[in-house]
Amino acid sequence: MLASDTALVLFSGGQDSTTCLAWALHHYAHVETIGFDYGQRHAVELTVRPTVIDKLRAASPEWQRKLGPDHMIDLSLIAAISETAMTHDIAIETQANGLPNTFVPGRNLLFMTVAATVAYRRGLTVLVGGMCETDFSGYPDCRDDTMKALQVALNLGMATRLKLETPLMWRDKKQTWELARELGGQALVDLIRADTHTCYLGERGALHDWGYGCGTCPACALRARGYQQFAGTAPLDVG
Ligand code: ZN
Repeated sequence: MLASDTALVLFSGGQDSTTCLAWALHHYAHVETIGFDYGQRHAVELTVRPTVIDKLRAASPEWQRKLGPDHMIDLSLIAAISETAMTHDIAIETQANGLPNTFVPGRNLLFMTVAATVAYRRGLTVLVGGMCETDFSGYPDCRDDTMKALQVALNLGMATRLKLETPLMWRDKKQTWELARELGGQALVDLIRADTHTCYLGERGALHDWGYGCGTCPACALRARGYQQFAGTAPLDVG
């Protein structure tokens, strides 16, 4: 990466995208954020976004200087054209094709495509997303190959040289907490713990050691286990 590169970070307000935003602020000269309102049940993540952005700005003068505007995009069409447990009030379960019904078909493809359009307009050269193949819930649009193919397709289709960066692709959740500590010390870990939102059900009742959430949905289970491994209070996965 070049010091002159500028980035647009897909920022949902969750643990992963907040870590990606800190990563981008560490590596690039100028960073902007993009968020999507797609009728997600956990729309609470949209309400935590401005707080997280404000606190990252306050974390260091360098980050304050680098962090540019936030772009919120209405993608309510996603809820209109699909019916999944992410956007409708139905139970989270595994479908006949082996994918969880929280999978919104094409969501990350659409997010990256819309982000590329905004990056084109803003003159930004790198798209940063929190897609991850290590701990993923089986979502095929989180695969490294999907992102690499999409980078090629976007650049062919838009005559650009955008780079798609996915710094969490090969990290598990424990390693994502470790990356946050590397980038911003305990202060960033504490910010992510208390101010970001991951729970699919939008639960923000009690603050657990790993953050807010129901504690049982797939997103909470991953986040909690990763934090407890990071903090040394849970055994590491083997194999
Ligand atoms: Zn949850």
